[in-house]
Amino acid sequence: MPLPKAELHLHIEGTLEPELAFALAARNGITLPYEDTEALRKAYLFDDLQSFLDLYYGLMAVLLTEEDFEELADAYLARAAEQGVRHAEIFFDPQAHMVRGVGIGTVIEGLGRALDRSEERHGISTRLIMCFLRDQSAESALETLEAAKPYLDRIIGIGLDSAEVGHPPAKFREVYEAAAALGLRRVAHAGEEGPPAYITEALDVLGVERIDHGLRCMEDAQLVERLVSERVPLTLCPLSNVRLRAVDVLEEHPLARMMDAGLLCTVNSDDPAYFGGYVDDTFHAVREALGLDRERLRELARNSFEASFLDGSARDEELRARYLAEVAEYSFD
Ligand SMILES: [Zn+2]
Repeated sequence: MPLPKAELHLHIEGTLEPELAFALAARNGITLPYEDTEALRKAYLFDDLQSFLDLYYGLMAVLLTEEDFEELADAYLARAAEQGVRHAEIFFDPQAHMVRGVGIGTVIEGLGRALDRSEERHGISTRLIMCFLRDQSAESALETLEAAKPYLDRIIGIGLDSAEVGHPPAKFREVYEAAAALGLRRVAHAGEEGPPAYITEALDVLGVERIDHGLRCMEDAQLVERLVSERVPLTLCPLSNVRLRAVDVLEEHPLARMMDAGLLCTVNSDDPAYFGGYVDDTFHAVREALGLDRERLRELARNSFEASFLDGSARDEELRARYLAEVAEYSFD
């Protein structure tokens, strides 16, 4: 039985496995530019960011109806359950679908159908976080938030993702202020390929409660001190960092040093269909590569629940307490 954990950095579009991509393509009458699932799986072995992004956005063409989004989320949740996930805060990118003519309501209602059944079916509580593509304009982010207004009861918060360099957090000040006024929680990708200053800016200008990735904070001792004293959670994705070349090899990943520094680290899978593993696979990989002992793994699991947004109600607090008790009692043997 895998260690119980929460997953806090997971893009639902990044869970599209070749088999499901082909099944949805067939149902929707779309021809994929790959012979079969094996050929597509080979394409998943990209070696740079651009070929990843081309494939990632190209394959989204198969996602058209509520049923498609429902099946995508349900397939992820089934896998996540096998990986010990008890709670998942799931990112989605509405702009990547709206630009293809798929309405935001189709995306949210489709995902929502799978999420509504998740506790019963997979034993996983869930939340949905709407991300803005930072390489799109600030106006487009504002329009997306406007379009999401009828569905806000399904969304716990907002995030910021995609190509980081050249798109500093401050570009999105206005939409983050508007989201805060609507009572939405706020997170942002920062300090993955972008500089440590983007982390500071995400905290100070966007008011985020968690930093997604954030590994480059290690280049700035003062920033590390601040993140430690303010207990800002970092949602790290070590396998993604290797595949997208933020670090050369997993053995050089700063996770263990970050934990030693007192940072509140969590381990997540990012885009697991593309980056070589789901979240428990990632736990195993970092345990091997970085020599993390059992108490370090338990700390990561505990952090994942502490950093979650399971704090909005008595029911949330009860769930979190139950999950933390499971982590405390977990036997590695
Ligand atoms: Zn990400």
